[in-house]
Amino acid sequence: TVITRFAPSPTGYLHIGGARTALFNWLYAKAKGGKMLLRIEDTDQARSTEGAILAILDGLRWLGIDWDGEPVYQLSRAERHREIAEQLLAAGHAYRCYATPEELQAMRERARAEGRAPGYDGTWRDRDHSDAPAGMTPAIRFKAPREGETVIEDRVQGRVVFANKDLDDLILLRSDGSPTYMLSVVVDDHDMGITHVIRGDDHLTNAARQTQIFKALGWETPIYAHVPLIHGPDGAKLSKRHGALGAEAYRAMGYLPAALRNYLVRLGWSHGDAEIMSTEEMISWFDLDAIGRSAARFDFAKLENLNGHYLRATPDAELIEHLKALIPDLPEGGSLAAQIGADGWQKLERAMPGLKERAKTLIELLDSAAFLFATRPLTLDDGALKQLDAQGRETLAALLPALQGVESWTPQALEACVRGFAEATGRKLGKVAQPLRAALTGRATSPGIFDVLEVLGRDEALGRIGDQVG
Ligand code: GLU
Repeated sequence: TVITRFAPSPTGYLHIGGARTALFNWLYAKAKGGKMLLRIEDTDQARSTEGAILAILDGLRWLGIDWDGEPVYQLSRAERHREIAEQLLAAGHAYRCYATPEELQAMRERARAEGRAPGYDGTWRDRDHSDAPAGMTPAIRFKAPREGETVIEDRVQGRVVFANKDLDDLILLRSDGSPTYMLSVVVDDHDMGITHVIRGDDHLTNAARQTQIFKALGWETPIYAHVPLIHGPDGAKLSKRHGALGAEAYRAMGYLPAALRNYLVRLGWSHGDAEIMSTEEMISWFDLDAIGRSAARFDFAKLENLNGHYLRATPDAELIEHLKALIPDLPEGGSLAAQIGADGWQKLERAMPGLKERAKTLIELLDSAAFLFATRPLTLDDGALKQLDAQGRETLAALLPALQGVESWTPQALEACVRGFAEATGRKLGKVAQPLRAALTGRATSPGIFDVLEVLGRDEALGRIGDQVG
């Protein structure tokens, strides 16, 4: 069975590239009826934080990506990693290295001066250790093969060949006894039974080094799939402005998790020309072979459009739940919640069909719902002020008695009334509807005006119009 893993380093939030990596691993496991495990690579104790771990777990949950079993904390496995380092040492696949930081620095400078790659030169590799400095704890270095090649049959990159002479002897265990990333990953991938490693292609060289360690241990190497990193719209490295943000930032910007998931799956993977797909479709279609070899570009406009689609496709009651969860986390969430009040949610749900038609994000949706919770007299924006000039107010003054006479306050009856008024007084419908909208919402744009009238209710609507005719 297929066992994948997502292995984030908890040094920051769940960024967009990590979220995509998690999604690909999750989809592949689901597609093959396998499992996805979660490993928190917290060995960099100086940079790992509890907050980052929580942010990553929250981000995954929000995106609807779950994992099998309990998360594995890499740091807690250090003893096992040390044991394997000793095992490699005993088998002659590793050696003790007594080089001091100063010597290593000098080595790097020498390499630079001679125009070589700045790797370890193998000083202690075959040296007689009887002249080792006394009282110094050595590091344990991997005895990497010097001859030949290390080949990776990558499911995305194809066959990638590394000349072994270019891969130096890396440290497995530091002199302070802490295992390195390279050793920990190999041991954990093996012990966790990982069959497929799907991750960013910035790890491709690591894959060669890890393959060498797997071989030295006589363990089977997992199948690798190195996915090109996400780039910005300009083709350069993804910057914050262009989307290099954490999952919680996308949530706060008002994106729906289903929309972001759909957007992410298409960043670097495709299925024909399908753009919008359900999770079930993603799972049934996902495969490693359709992952592209060139970097995908992040495009906010595309994400927005997709989100607008998902907003319209989501049931109103569900959108209300999303808003209820989102509002407390917004900067003005407290005052917003107070404004909406207890009965506001019902109003919001009734107005939802009109609101979601126009909005691309939950934030836009909330913004366009502001008129529902505004208190009289309304504050008017510039567009509304323009509509409520002398002529506009005069129109409303003439319309008001007609509206007061409407018996059943429904969109149909209200539309009939306003149209009838426009016709009878020789006005274009827009010349009536625009000042009406301005008076009811304080803005020049809003959902359909008859729906607005209805949602506000007779008293509030007539009151707002009355405020403008004075
Ligand atoms: N912890 C590594 C990272 O966040 C990933 C290691 C791996 O996937 O092998 O970049």
